[in-house]
Amino acid sequence: MKRSMVYLVGAGPGDPRLITIKGLECIKKADVIIYDYLVNVDLLKAAKPDAELIYVGKQGGAHTLEQDEINELLVKKAQEGIVVTRLKGGDPYVFGRGGEEALVLRENQVPFEVVPGITAAIATPNYAGIPVTHRNYTSTFGLITGHEDPTKDESSIDWAKVSTGIGTLTFYMGIKNLPYITEQLMKHGRSKDTPVAVIRWGTTAQQKTVIGTLDTIVEKARHIRPPAITIVGEVVKLRDQLNWFETRPLFGKTIVVTRSREQASEFADQLSEYGARVIEFPTIEIAKPDAIQPLDDAINNIHSYHWLVFTSINGVDSFFQRLFELGNDIRDLKGIKLCAIGPATEEGIKKYHIRVDCRPPKFVAESVVEELKKVTAIQGESFLLPRADIARSFLPEELRKLGGTVTDLVAYKTVMAQPGDTNLAEKIKNGEVHIVTFTSSSTVRNFVQIIGEKNIASLNGHVRYASIGPITTETAEELGLPVTIKAKEYTIPGLVNAILESTTSVSG
Ligand code: SAH
Repeated sequence: MKRSMVYLVGAGPGDPRLITIKGLECIKKADVIIYDYLVNVDLLKAAKPDAELIYVGKQGGAHTLEQDEINELLVKKAQEGIVVTRLKGGDPYVFGRGGEEALVLRENQVPFEVVPGITAAIATPNYAGIPVTHRNYTSTFGLITGHEDPTKDESSIDWAKVSTGIGTLTFYMGIKNLPYITEQLMKHGRSKDTPVAVIRWGTTAQQKTVIGTLDTIVEKARHIRPPAITIVGEVVKLRDQLNWFETRPLFGKTIVVTRSREQASEFADQLSEYGARVIEFPTIEIAKPDAIQPLDDAINNIHSYHWLVFTSINGVDSFFQRLFELGNDIRDLKGIKLCAIGPATEEGIKKYHIRVDCRPPKFVAESVVEELKKVTAIQGESFLLPRADIARSFLPEELRKLGGTVTDLVAYKTVMAQPGDTNLAEKIKNGEVHIVTFTSSSTVRNFVQIIGEKNIASLNGHVRYASIGPITTETAEELGLPVTIKAKEYTIPGLVNAILESTTSVSG
């Protein structure tokens, strides 16, 4: 039998990048991952493709499995002689029942290791602008459960000592009991004017912070639902100066990315870095062309071409993937010049360690022709354009008019993606989405198809549309989507800039 191992891993407080390197390694090597409600599911993307993912979350009263069932499951899986990663929110030993799980593993002679995580009481105040200790304010910091049953005769919390004996107090799971907690603290000598912060979904793009004092916070935080943590103490005042996270330019904005899943991440990452909450709603999938023979023929006769012109990164990747599949390599491209429509396509080509000979300053087909004219005759030269099935005919037509020989072939096709989030239209109407972004005409067309042509008009006024360039904008407006955010430079960074400008101008 293989050696079994259970890793009890702290996934951190919400921001997936706050997991430890060791924790991430445990996700990567797991055969089974058993994870909780508070674990950011983005972390599961790092798992092996065939890893079994088991959700055992307990959200308020709704438990998928009771704790002893979770314990049993851990032991049972481990006894199969595999690597089990038990992923828990924050730190596994801070109010996470990690101690109980470890004891059960020990009783059953299952080997285990425990990987610490950043706990909510440390991370979420930080992301709300609150250092939990500071020399001028407090030298003590306590982590307390707020989950105690207030009707119990004997409290396991010594309220008299806690109230005045510790500077910064943090309460986990204390939202329901907030009236009881604040009452106990004031009753036992903590000033009613002590500042208090309640932070919900801390360290995520949905973070919400409410500030008050011991005697006002119950009223002010009445709309806050779990999961939230409560911080009591003078350090809360530092938020006025140290609130770095919620003041990022796109914080509080929800932005939809409609690109294909493969291409979404670079764009989504940039938006997230500015604080946006990103919903990936891929409208496109990239697939092999229906007929691959024309591409194969072109690759086999590659030396009959003077120029290889790429108008998208998908064109680049599809071309090279096929080139390699046919047993060729980049030496076969010797002597052939390459043109890229824009910087992203150029980067895509550079990945294959090839220099680009021509790249126009403006990233549309019109500009490709202008730039090619500057560097080559066109007349009498032959061009290979590995493109999408739905690419515009402008470029090949123009090159032909100028005397070039053009092979315009389908290197990949774009198909409509299966809708990921079936509730998107509802979310838009409810005001939960602020901006929908389009990075090509086909993202617009497919978005309209997925949402339903007849429903599009009802979204107007509830959301803003952002477009990467003039062709995409034209398609959107033809289909009844008013574009108010337009990239000045027709690239992803250009689109990000336009979004940044549009949000700062609105909020003054
Ligand atoms: N082991 C976890 C705590 C589990 S108890 C840790 O170390 O953080 C669950 C409680 O943790 C929640 O009720 C809430 O009070 C707090 N919590 C966890 N993640 C949080 C987050 N992102 N924002 C606010 N509170 C959080």
